[in-house]
Formats: sequence, structure tokens, C-alpha cells
Amino acid sequence: MTTTLDLSRSRDAAASPARRPNLTGLTRPALAAALTEAGLVPPEKAKMRASQLWRWMHHYGVTDFDRMTDVAKELRAALAGAFDLSRPEVVERQVSVDGTRKWLIRMAPGVEVETVYIPDVGRSGALCVSSQVGCTLNCTFCHTGTQPLVRNLTAAEIVAQVQVARDELGEWPSPKEDRRLSNIVFMGMGEPLYNLDSVADAIDIIADNEGIAISRRRITVSTSGIVPELKALGERTQAMLAISLHATNDPLRDELVPINRKYPIAELMAGIRAYPELGNARRVTFEYVMLKGVNDSPTEARALVRLLAGVPAKINLIPFNPWPGSPYACSDWGAIEAFAAILNRAGYASPIRTPRGRDILAACGQLKSESEKERASVRRARERAAGLQTTPDAATAPGNEP
Ligand code: SAH
Ligand code: SF4
Repeated sequence: MTTTLDLSRSRDAAASPARRPNLTGLTRPALAAALTEAGLVPPEKAKMRASQLWRWMHHYGVTDFDRMTDVAKELRAALAGAFDLSRPEVVERQVSVDGTRKWLIRMAPGVEVETVYIPDVGRSGALCVSSQVGCTLNCTFCHTGTQPLVRNLTAAEIVAQVQVARDELGEWPSPKEDRRLSNIVFMGMGEPLYNLDSVADAIDIIADNEGIAISRRRITVSTSGIVPELKALGERTQAMLAISLHATNDPLRDELVPINRKYPIAELMAGIRAYPELGNARRVTFEYVMLKGVNDSPTEARALVRLLAGVPAKINLIPFNPWPGSPYACSDWGAIEAFAAILNRAGYASPIRTPRGRDILAACGQLKSESEKERASVRRARERAAGLQTTPDAATAPGNEP
């Protein structure tokens, strides 16, 4: 993330909500440290206080310090003066005929993301979260890829997508059983491995047992194949890995997923084989979008089987979801079934993913917000006016590819 929290300001009780750091994006250790640094809690009590606040924020979902009834009134007031718990605004809600829901969430002026809830996926329902606004990569079949990167989302903004979904689904306090939201997939807008710090912090928060408590085995991170970050992803998050493969040879993958020119298939496969703790209980999901006449022949299905030999894998065949102006067509149903049959015969579970939420442009690869990148000079002027520390440009910050 690129925004620096300046806690010295947090003692200023008159600080506006925009300037008060939001506590919901802090990991447990960072939360304890923030309480101490703000001078509100002595170091020896920080861990205990952090646990108390944690439960209110992440188990009960409160957005108001005054609801924390086991915290003294004076401390509640001081916390409210220094920190923020509020949610970002939901600016649009859409519900598909198939029950899929899409929310457009405004994180800040001009910074909007789409988050999608898909019922009956995973154990009971999956939330597809975004990690960036826009994307630096330009996969030719992806709508998000047509939107320039606006910026990385912060951990708080990633967690906020889960909180908003929970608000909307009425799932506070965190239910032990019969949840509607059981799985998280990082398959919304953006490339999660270009924002690994925030993604890893957000996963620490979402997976914590005394809070939202969605287990790491039910959290999947999908990447287009940023090979140097794979190991760190596994070690830091223990999340399930999904790879957007889409082609079995370099010339075609170079075209569909241009980052392949930098990290070609052989390197990608080596990186995947080294992903920590792979096994039959922890398989890699390979995503393969079915593009008519482009990558959907039986020859390519057989090449896929050869490519994945020895990798504990499952394959998700995704019928291409069209978007306005998209240059491809979805494969015919017969071609998809023939492709799947070859994979099945080779022993791979290869479900064909039923497109969900197509009518509200909520299906895979259809997400795109109206946010456009603000020119750096305009942003700096705005931040100066608001008294905020100037942030480096997310698109050129370390870890981001052009
Ligand atoms: N950037 C990450 C995660 C977001 S994309 C990645 O690329 O993996 C989530 C999935 O949707 C990816 O597998 C992506 O390739 C796929 N996808 C993108 N556009 C699509 C489209 N128009 N139809 C079907 N799937 C698409
Ligand atoms: Fe970015 Fe993923 Fe879309 Fe490619 S498929 S442009 S990496 S969001």
C-alpha cells in the first residue's frame, strides 16, 4: 500500500474521518502498536485492548466505538477522536436473476471497486474481491484489463469489501455455522500479487479465528502468473492458489496474457511446483477461459494434460464472458464439453464454471469501474489541500509492472 498513516495526528480529536486511520485494516500486532503509539493504551495493556477491539470490529462488525460496552467510556471517546471504523459507501447495488449480487463501493473520491457475491459456490457462497482499482496488465479477454490502474487497494479497503458483504447479507456477529459467505476468492479487479503486502495483511485479518474467521483453505488467490511472488504468497498467506493459464504454449499465452513474455510457461510451472504444501488436499486451480477457435481444440486439451503432469491440480473451464467491444466469442458448448472430457479421462476434475451474474456484468472478467487514474499533479494538489502526505504513484511504485 502507498498511503502512510501518520499517527501523530490521531490525538487531534477534531480530525476529520478521512484523516483518522481506519483500524479495521490493521493486523493484530499493528493494532496493538497503533493504540500505544497514539498514547491511548500503555504497552503492557496493548495486546489485551487490541483483542477486545478486535472482537468488536471483526466478530460483531461494529462501526461505532460507543457499542464497545466493555471499554471504558473515556477510552471509547478517545478512540473515536483518534481512529475511524466507518465503512466505505456502497454507491450501487445490483442483483442478477441468478441471485449473484454486485456492489460498487467507493473507497475514496474517484476510487471505486466492484465486489461480487455468488451464492451456492464453495461451501455456501463465495465473495469475489478486488485487490486493485483497474489493472496494469492487459489480458486481451479481460474487461478490467481495459481500465488503467488507478491504484492498489489498502488492506482496510480489501477487508472492507468483506465487511460490506457481511452488512448486506446480515451476517454479524460472525456465524459459526450456516454462513452465506463461506469462501473468498481474489478474482475481482486487479492482480493480487502486485499488491501482496495488503493482500497478505487482509488475509491475516479475514482468517483470524476470533473475527471473520474464514479459514485460509477457503481463501483462493488468483494470479496471472507473477512468478517471483508465488513463494511469498504461499509462505505469507497459506492461501489456495489459482493460476490464470488460458494457453498451453508461449506464443498463444504471450498474446492472451502478455505478462507471459516476462514469465513464460516453463518458469511459471516451476514456480507452481515449488508452491508450499501442495498435495492432493491442496491442489492448484488452473483457470482456462474458453475462447472460440483460439484455445479450445482437443489438441490443446491434450497439451494441457501433458503440461500439468505431476502437479496436484484441478482445472476450471470458464466460458468466456463477453463485454462491450470484446474481441472474442465464447466456445460452443460442444467444444467445451469435448475439452472437459479429455481432461476428465486424464483424471482431472474439470468443472465447467457456470457463468454467474452475466446480466449485471458481474461474471469473471466483466468487472470495470468508472474510476480513471487521476493525474499525479492533480492528486498532489488535492492531497496538499487536504493536508495529507503525498503518496507515490501506485503504478510506478516498487512491485508494480508497467
Ligand atoms: N488478475 C488475476 C485475478 C482477477 S481475474 C488473474 O488474472 O488471475 C479472475 C479470473 O477471471 C482470471 O482467471 C481471469 O483470467 C478470468 N477472466 C478474465 N476475463 C474474463 C472473461 N471475459 N471471461 C471469463 N473469464 C475471464
Ligand atoms: Fe488483470 Fe487478471 Fe484481468 Fe489479466 S485477467 S487484465 S491480470 S485482472
